[in-house]
Amino acid sequence: MRKMHFVRVSSLWLLILLVVVSIPLGAVSSQTAQESAVVAAVYYDSQDQLNSIGSKYDVWAVHADQGYVEVLLRPEQQVALAKAGFRVEVLREIPATAQALLDPRYYYYDNYVSNSNSRYLTTWLQTINAAHPDLTELVDVGNAWQADHAGYHRDMWVLRVTNEDPMYGPIESKPAFFLYATIHAREVATPELVIRYINFLLDGYDGLGGYGVDADVTWLVNHNVAYFMVMANPDGHVQNELNTSAYRRKNMDNDDGCSSPSSWGVDLNRNHSFLWGCCGGSSSYACDETYRGPSAGSEPETQAFQNYFATIMPDQNGPNGDNEIPPAAPDDARGLFISLHSYSDVVLWPWYLPGYPQPPNVTQLQAIGRKFADFNGYNPSGTIGYTVDGATDYWTYGKFGIASFTIEVGSSSGTCGGFFPSYDCLDGYGTRDFWAENRPVFLYSHKIARSPYTTVYGPDTLSPSISDPGEGEAIVTLTATIQDQRYGSDPLKPVMGAEYFIGEPGLDGLGVAMSPTDGAWGGTMEAVNATIDTSALEPGAYYVLVHGKNGDGKWGPFSAAWLNVGATQPTVHVGDIVMGYKLVSGRYRIGADVPVFDQNGVAVVGASVTVEWTLPNSKTKIQTALTSATGKASFRIVGRTSGTYTVAVTDVTATGYDYDPAQNFETSEELVIP
Ligand SMILES: [Zn+2]
Repeated sequence: MRKMHFVRVSSLWLLILLVVVSIPLGAVSSQTAQESAVVAAVYYDSQDQLNSIGSKYDVWAVHADQGYVEVLLRPEQQVALAKAGFRVEVLREIPATAQALLDPRYYYYDNYVSNSNSRYLTTWLQTINAAHPDLTELVDVGNAWQADHAGYHRDMWVLRVTNEDPMYGPIESKPAFFLYATIHAREVATPELVIRYINFLLDGYDGLGGYGVDADVTWLVNHNVAYFMVMANPDGHVQNELNTSAYRRKNMDNDDGCSSPSSWGVDLNRNHSFLWGCCGGSSSYACDETYRGPSAGSEPETQAFQNYFATIMPDQNGPNGDNEIPPAAPDDARGLFISLHSYSDVVLWPWYLPGYPQPPNVTQLQAIGRKFADFNGYNPSGTIGYTVDGATDYWTYGKFGIASFTIEVGSSSGTCGGFFPSYDCLDGYGTRDFWAENRPVFLYSHKIARSPYTTVYGPDTLSPSISDPGEGEAIVTLTATIQDQRYGSDPLKPVMGAEYFIGEPGLDGLGVAMSPTDGAWGGTMEAVNATIDTSALEPGAYYVLVHGKNGDGKWGPFSAAWLNVGATQPTVHVGDIVMGYKLVSGRYRIGADVPVFDQNGVAVVGASVTVEWTLPNSKTKIQTALTSATGKASFRIVGRTSGTYTVAVTDVTATGYDYDPAQNFETSEELVIP
């Protein structure tokens, strides 16, 4: 500890010395500027100019309203752009000497770079797969580039989540949701969102979700299938773990003619084999950040993904060639694909390819993209603003007809902006909450995967609920709200019907009809109800799935509630404990939120939670707090040192409930402050 402290102080002194020395020596500092990469504003006058910058340079963000793009430029690129007549304004320098490990609260791919929180994606995937043998399968779909060229073996992992019990039908016939992240290695917030959604499905996350706890999650895991590729560019990701100033975006392929280690690699999001290199949306120069590779699908990462995807997803828009615009996928096409990127807070869908017609399903893609934006508040711009070819979602839609999207997560500036946002922005400890913003997008995508192109037009079902039957009573009341919800001022449709199914999602229109509580259909929001006679049902827990339809006869996605037949004394349990910290005036302010739920997964207000903290010096501290209106008990302590802080729940009491620790998602949680 003492030694670490000494090293930190001395390197800080070195930094101060360097700064002090370089300021008065103009010649030295200007030479440093020549050597350093810069982030610059490059102004453009036309769409053609924007496309030409986007096809070659490392564009970080488009500021269309101000007519410039934010671009990372190496010195020679800065000169070339200025010579070509572009107005280039340096926003900031990226000193070549600055080197920082990725914040170890972020997952690292494996232990190639040591993570002080021991957060390694590969280990985590293997652990969660082992913990849920009937719900998950971890598939090694191929190698990243360095495995077969540079001696660093990194696998391309896909985690499949579905109940493997054949009573839920063959997995290949279940509607599939594919969530994919980190094709651009430095976009480090994106794998974290996938990890959270996997946790949300299997064990619950931050007090929500959990198989067997949350009714929606439970039917989705049983009747749908989800595929997760958390890191699509592992070789590149470890470069950012080592040094966030590297801004590594591409893979590590170094034999295509670029000899500079900082610039070699293929932009995997320009390498996919649908209309590869068609349209001036990528570069043929191996050192460019948008280098498309020597041929379509040339990279092992691309091949691993494409080959696996083709085995699990049906081709629904006819066998079109790699360079052929397909016919429209039918309205009942299944499956949904999302590729997560950073940053700019936009929702994109295929495609913007000058010289080619729009995708045949563009109206439906737009409708889904705008629904996403209604949930996460991002801008549904559809296109990033300049031409891109060889992108993942162009391939998944172009070749398979699957509804496909790109979501760019994070602000353009500020602590929650850029490629390396503060980790606090993931769970709402910062000014943003990326997880809360996107959880409803993922859940909605998972739900509509059975028929995205039609279900998107239907209304949403909110807060379905089932009354507790009285003692010896068999009749319960099911209620819900059916509401059409659209982005911005997109026109709303009237709600004209609702129905429910018990135990499995049925076909549209074949369920048990529900009634409008006000006696008449036709509002854009309708409270609905039905009575259910449970006397013929075996004792147990059932999910009841509710959905509504609009005036065009389009049914929306299901939302589910638990129906407990023969239920006994209600119980409470602890959900997922979330910890965070802030460094304020040399002290760590450490927080732990402990959510409490009843047996139906409903938050319990006013429960008394007792925890025991264990501090880095092994001292302990007991605290008790009541759950607030959100069902969470909040605990706060101030710590003087870095190290491991543990919080363990020792008791929960709530009037009218038994505490059932066997149902806890978590009983303790650990936070390592590096
Ligand atoms: Zn990206």
